[in-house]
Amino acid sequence: MDDCIFCKIANGEIPSTKVYEDENWFAFRDIEPAAPVHVLLIPKKHVDNILAFDEEYNKNFADFFLVVKKIAEQEGLKESGFRLVMNTGEKAGQSVFHFHAHIIGGKEMGWPPFPEDK
Ligand code: AMP
Repeated sequence: MDDCIFCKIANGEIPSTKVYEDENWFAFRDIEPAAPVHVLLIPKKHVDNILAFDEEYNKNFADFFLVVKKIAEQEGLKESGFRLVMNTGEKAGQSVFHFHAHIIGGKEMGWPPFPEDK
């Protein structure tokens, strides 16, 4: 999609630190990491976010969790675990409107994520 920063990262127009790529997926390091490991996984085929999915588009996600697992293993997160975050919509903190999953790990993480809201 024209003017989409993550489409441009996936096609190499904008540089990134790539950690994984296959025919349908691209993963790279977040520019403002929230933890020692902070990878963004994006589909090469643009979709704004989960709310824009339909049955047809969802077929692209058949291997989504297997790709997440592959990256987590590659990043050494198998033992420590990791958090998978998909901010969906502006009010939920989404700032880039090309679906992306944050794969975050390498440090202890508490739950709930926003204890001050309790
Ligand atoms: P979100 O707020 O969930 O939409 O996440 C967008 C993420 O993209 C943020 O964590 C940003 O730090 C990250 N980000 C934005 N631009 C870039 C970029 N050019 N390279 C790597 N990460 C980026």
